[in-house]
Amino acid sequence: MSHETVYAIASGKGGVGKTTTTVNLGTALAEAGERVAIVDADLGMANLAGFVSLTPDSTTLHDVLAGDASIDDATYRLADNIVAVPSGTNLDEYAETSPEGLREAVEELQSQFDYVFLDVGAGISHETVLPLGLADAVVLVSTPEPAAVHDTKKTIELTDRAGGEIAGLVLTRTHPDGDVSHDEIADRLEVPLLGTIPEDPAARDSVYAGTPLVVFEPQGPAAVAYRRLTAELTGVEIPVPADGDESDAEEHAATADATATDSTDGDDGREAAHDDVSSAITEAESDP
Ligand code: ADP
Ligand code: MG
Repeated sequence: MSHETVYAIASGKGGVGKTTTTVNLGTALAEAGERVAIVDADLGMANLAGFVSLTPDSTTLHDVLAGDASIDDATYRLADNIVAVPSGTNLDEYAETSPEGLREAVEELQSQFDYVFLDVGAGISHETVLPLGLADAVVLVSTPEPAAVHDTKKTIELTDRAGGEIAGLVLTRTHPDGDVSHDEIADRLEVPLLGTIPEDPAARDSVYAGTPLVVFEPQGPAAVAYRRLTAELTGVEIPVPADGDESDAEEHAATADATATDSTDGDDGREAAHDDVSSAITEAESDP
């Protein structure tokens, strides 16, 4: 069954947990058997690839938006049912990209996957506004900090202007003893509260491991909250991994090791990581 649902994961302020949310919503759905594409639409501050141990070869979303590659060329398989479209980190290339091509790229992904998640840049630039309008729904991400909540208002306003729909709010890095109630924050913003993700040191550790939190520490508080959020947002029943089921974590960890070798060692590690990605692409091509 195809849902063909496109979500933009957006925030006013940076560093509030958009990429973490994108990666974990996508991974939880993939584990439930949905076909998922996650897209690094944060063209200026791309970092999604690092969260999932992806070392793209030359082709990224930058090339697609510059008209030099097709979206399939920039699509990399991460695990069963999930692919990622990384963005480039080169500022010169960034200068040549035009976000206009994003609509076509997203339509193409929509035809191949059940869910597409766009990890959108913070702030109010053109490249931020465009995905808000072309997604079926916008997931607002904020911490409970007043500055972040305040900036969320701007994202709501921008979504309205772009003709987009708000799905609701996700509050991240919450503390049990926070002084403002989470419902009150959502009420003040006049949007539904989709879920809250507690502060959890495993979130940062999972980035260092290059493994999604829901795989890295599936029983941890943030992973549990992300699975609950995924079910709330999409209505898909998300399976709870059995205790001690580490097979996925090991698979991801092995990839992370190859990448770590790549960044610190000489050519041998680089070759290995490259081979890894090449085979991932081949798989992605033969298994859309
Ligand atoms: P954004 O994409 O909005 O810039 P990130 O997802 O990169 O935000 O998260 C910013 C930082 O906060 C990262 O170091 C991440 O590991 C950390 N982080 C995200 N969610 C949590 C959480 N629930 N608990 C603790 N740290 C978190
Ligand atoms: Mg990010």
